[in-house]
Amino acid sequence: MARPGRASSERGLLPLPFSAMSDETARLLTLHSARSASVLHRPRPLVVADKAARPASLPQGLALAELHVHVGSAVDPAVMWSIAHAQGIRLPTKNYWEFVQLITVDRRRVKGFDDYLALFHWTELIQSSPEAMERSVYEIIGGAYRRHNIQRLELRFNPMKRNRGGERDLDHIIAAAIRGMERSLLEYPVHAGLILCLDKAFDYELNEIIVHKAIAHAERGVVGIDIAGPESPSFSFARYRPLFSSAREAGLGLTVHAGESGTLDAMREALRSLRPDRIGHGIKAAHDPELLAELREAGVLLEVCPTSNLHTRVVGGVDELLWVLSTLASHGVPFSINTDGPEMLGRGLRDELNWLLRRRLLGYEQVLRCNQWAYAHSFVR
Ligand SMILES: [Zn+2]
Repeated sequence: MARPGRASSERGLLPLPFSAMSDETARLLTLHSARSASVLHRPRPLVVADKAARPASLPQGLALAELHVHVGSAVDPAVMWSIAHAQGIRLPTKNYWEFVQLITVDRRRVKGFDDYLALFHWTELIQSSPEAMERSVYEIIGGAYRRHNIQRLELRFNPMKRNRGGERDLDHIIAAAIRGMERSLLEYPVHAGLILCLDKAFDYELNEIIVHKAIAHAERGVVGIDIAGPESPSFSFARYRPLFSSAREAGLGLTVHAGESGTLDAMREALRSLRPDRIGHGIKAAHDPELLAELREAGVLLEVCPTSNLHTRVVGGVDELLWVLSTLASHGVPFSINTDGPEMLGRGLRDELNWLLRRRLLGYEQVLRCNQWAYAHSFVR
């Protein structure tokens, strides 16, 4: 949740320990941090590849920020197993390893975006109680800190996909998630916040309720709203303009899933009608220089999730991923690196960043810059 005493002007300050950096890196980031917030949104194009030799992996002491993580795909399977049994949920198998297969990605079974979303059936069912949500959020934040030194973390979920069709009270689900977050923040030096997800396949009236709940819990740890879920032919971003305006007025951050499985037109509509602070994924914009310019001018950060995009086949392969990242960089569009779902996809943030470094998809300075952008664009104050 938000920690008191952090003025908004602090958003541009460096969270990175300088002792862990080279002199050149520290100099670059000092220059970067000295600029105003508006200039932060219009960075110079990133260096495409580091000329000098750089470490092959990030120092463990480097604090990381992650903005795009779904609760449904971020809990360790062993914990999910334990939660399911604590609640007496009848699972389709008594074999633990078969259960792990049920809630994690396997390229032979997951051949596209819809196959990936289908994995959430079991995780959302298991998390559908206040007790399950409290433990889930608690375990995610502690685990992210212990394993990856993530010190700024935003977690998102749809409370209506965790209330067993209306049997459970939404306020209890949300309050339990906040409780889990507060417990973990007592234990670890992490700043965290919750984002409530609307769903593209939901009726407008249901999504409206979620926005009202987000506003009602805004002072207690809910920091933003998102629209996620499967693409739906009847869905229109523009229809949500009034709801997004009221969320913005209530001080919530705004993000939406767009430019991933959906069309470029839909992403354009999302950007122009909702004026989000960030866009989840947004990688399809790489195909449209005009849209890239709009994103840069509006200072919108893209929450890029490389491994997720490869598994859902939204990105065709590593070569295409390199092209996407290079295109965003050369057009000066700020982006952060995220996992989307570290447990379901089998790769935590530090591993994701080190993988990008090893495969030379991003240079060392670029990874540091992405982490810096994640801090600067976080909804957690
Ligand atoms: Zn997502």
